[in-house]
Amino acid sequence: MTAQTEKFEFKAEVNQLLDILVHSLYTNREIFLRELVSNASDALDKMRFAINSNPELEDEVEPEILIAYDEEKKTVTVTDTGIGMTREEVMTNIGTIAHSGSAEFVKQAAESKESLDSLIGRFGVGFYSIFMVSDHVVVRTKSYLKDEPAIQWVSDGKNAYELTEVEAEMDHGTIIEIQLNEDNAERFGSDDKLKDIVKRHSNFVSFPIMIGGERVNTVSALWREPKFQIKQEQYEEFYKFLTYDVQPPIDTLHFSVDAPVQFNSLLFIPENDLDIFGMDRDNWGLDLYVRRVLIEKQNKNLLPEYLSFIKGVVDTEDLPLNISRETLQDNLLIGKISATLTKQVLGQLEKLAKDDEEKYAKFWKAHSKIFKAGHMDFVNRDKYAGLLRFDSSKAEENTLVSFADYIERAKEDQKEIYYSFVASREAANLNPHLEIFRNKDIEVLYLYEPIDEFVMESIREHEGFNFVAAEYADLEKLDKFESTKKEDEPEPLSEDQEKDMEALIAKMKEVLGEQVAEVKVSERLSDSPCRLVNPDGAMTSSMEKLMKAMNKDSSIPTKTMEVNAGHPLLRSMLEIFKVNPEDEFIALSSNQLLESALLLEGYLNDPHALVGRIQSLLTKAGGWYAELEKKD
Ligand code: ADP
Repeated sequence: MTAQTEKFEFKAEVNQLLDILVHSLYTNREIFLRELVSNASDALDKMRFAINSNPELEDEVEPEILIAYDEEKKTVTVTDTGIGMTREEVMTNIGTIAHSGSAEFVKQAAESKESLDSLIGRFGVGFYSIFMVSDHVVVRTKSYLKDEPAIQWVSDGKNAYELTEVEAEMDHGTIIEIQLNEDNAERFGSDDKLKDIVKRHSNFVSFPIMIGGERVNTVSALWREPKFQIKQEQYEEFYKFLTYDVQPPIDTLHFSVDAPVQFNSLLFIPENDLDIFGMDRDNWGLDLYVRRVLIEKQNKNLLPEYLSFIKGVVDTEDLPLNISRETLQDNLLIGKISATLTKQVLGQLEKLAKDDEEKYAKFWKAHSKIFKAGHMDFVNRDKYAGLLRFDSSKAEENTLVSFADYIERAKEDQKEIYYSFVASREAANLNPHLEIFRNKDIEVLYLYEPIDEFVMESIREHEGFNFVAAEYADLEKLDKFESTKKEDEPEPLSEDQEKDMEALIAKMKEVLGEQVAEVKVSERLSDSPCRLVNPDGAMTSSMEKLMKAMNKDSSIPTKTMEVNAGHPLLRSMLEIFKVNPEDEFIALSSNQLLESALLLEGYLNDPHALVGRIQSLLTKAGGWYAELEKKD
C-alpha cells in the first residue's frame, strides 16, 4: 500500500506572516536555528512531563537535540527526541498560527521598524522563520502516543504544504530538514557556524545540543551557581535567552532562600515594557523549576500581577517532580514563595530608588502602568506606597516625586497630602480647584491616569499624612497657612452689597434652574470666577467622570456652582443686577459661567448654544467698548 499524500493550503494569516518574514530586512536570519532548538527543547520538556505524570510510560530514549549539516545536500537537520506530533497536531501547529495575537502581530510587525528577532520568539510564530533561509522544508514527526503514525510534512513556504503518513524512524520525536538556499548555505552551512549560532542563542537550553558528536551548550541552571562565580555578561546572556529582549536588564536579582521554603531565584527588571503593542498581555510569569527540571514556563502564581514585568526563574527543592500544573495553582508552597519573592522585589526596587535615581526613573517609565495595580497589595502597603512616584506642582518637569519628598517639603503643621487629577501641567495651572493651593504655596500631586485615583483612594495615608483630593480640601485646614500672594484683595462688600449679592445668587439659581444643585459664594476662590463641586463632596469630579464613562452614562452631572464674589465679573453682574434684576446680561453670563466651568471638567452640553452666547456677549461688549472709546 502506498501512502497517500494530501495537499493543504496555509491559513491566510500564515501566508501573510511568511511573506513578511521572507522579505524583512530587519531580521537576523540566523535566529531560525534558535527557534527550532527552542521548539525542540519544549518538545523534550513535554515528553519529560508526560513521563513524570504517567509512570506506566516506559521510556528508554535519551532526551537530546541533534543538529547536523549535510555538505552535499546543503541541508540542516534538527532532530529531537521529544513528544512529537500527531497528524492533527501537525495541522493545527504548523498550518495555522496558534497564538491569538499573532495575526495582529503580523500586521503590526509589517509596519514596524522594530527588529523582528525578539518579536518572533515572543509571539509563537518561530517555526515559520525557517522560510527565511529555505524554500524546501521537510518535517517528520512521531507522536509519543503509541497508536499514532509518523507524519511527514513538506512545504516550500509559499502557500501550501503536503502531508504523508510515513514509516516511523524513532519511538517519538521530530526531525526537521531544511534545505538552505544559495546565500544561506554560504552563511550558515558548516558545523562550526551552526555551533556559533547555538552558543549565541541557545546556550542555556537544559538538554544536550549535539553537533558533530560534541555537546555544544555548556551552561545551564545559572541560578544554581554561586553568585560570585557569575559574570555580568552571563547574567545578560541568560536574560536575552529568556526574554529575547535586545537591551540588557536594568537590574538583576539573584538570591536563594531556605525558610520558610527552599528556593533559588534569578530575576530581572527589563529596561522596556516588552509588551510593545499592548496585545501580549499573557506573556508573563516566572519559569518554575523543581531541582533544575522545568515544570512550567511562565507560571503566574509565583508573583502578583502587578510585578508581572519581572522576568526570571525560580527553582525549588521542596516540590515533587511530578506535580501537576493544575495543583500548582493553589499550592501553599507556591504561595509562600510568592510572598517571599514579592518582598524581595519590593526591597530591590527600594534599593534601586535610593542608589540609582536614573535607573529607577527608567523602571518607572517602563513599568509603572502595571505596577500601579499593586495598590491592592495590603500586606506590603507601606513598602509599596514608598515606591510610588508622581508629578507635582512643585516638581521640575520630568522629575518624580515620592510621598517622602512631598512630606519633606510639606508646611509645618500640614498633615495632608493633596492630589488632583489633571490633564496636564498647563491645565493644572488654570484649574480653579487648585487656585488656593497656588496662593498658599502648598504642593499638589498631579494624577494623570484614572488608576492613580484608585491608588490614592485605596492607600489613603502615608506616614501619618492623609491623602486628600484638592478639590475637597477642608478650608479650615488650609486657613492656617498664609497666602503668599501679594496682590490686592478686592474691596470687601458693604452690608447692602452683601444683600444684593445674595439676591443675585438667588437670581442665578433661578436662571440656571435644574442645571445646578445650588449656587453659593465660594470661600476659596480668588482668581477664577467660579468652580463646580459635587453637592455631597463624596467623589472627585474625575472619579465621577470615570464612573459615568464606565456606565456609559453621557448625561451632565448636576453640581453646585461656587462663585467668587470678589471677581470683577461678579462685581459687574452685581452692578447691572442692582439697576435691573431682569437684565439679559445676568442670564447670559450665568449660563456662560456654568458652561465654561463644565467645559473645564470635560463636559460640553451644546456647542451651538455656547458659541451663540459667546457671540452675543462679544457683540454687546464690543458695542459698549466702542461707545467708551468714542467718549475718550
Ligand atoms: P511556539 O513554539 O511559540 O508555539 P512555533 O511556530 O515555533 O510557535 O511552533 C508552533 C507549534 O508547533 C509549537 O507550539 C508546538 O506545538 C509545535 N512544534 C513545533 N516544533 C515542534 C517539535 N520539534 N516537536 C513537537 N512539536 C513542535
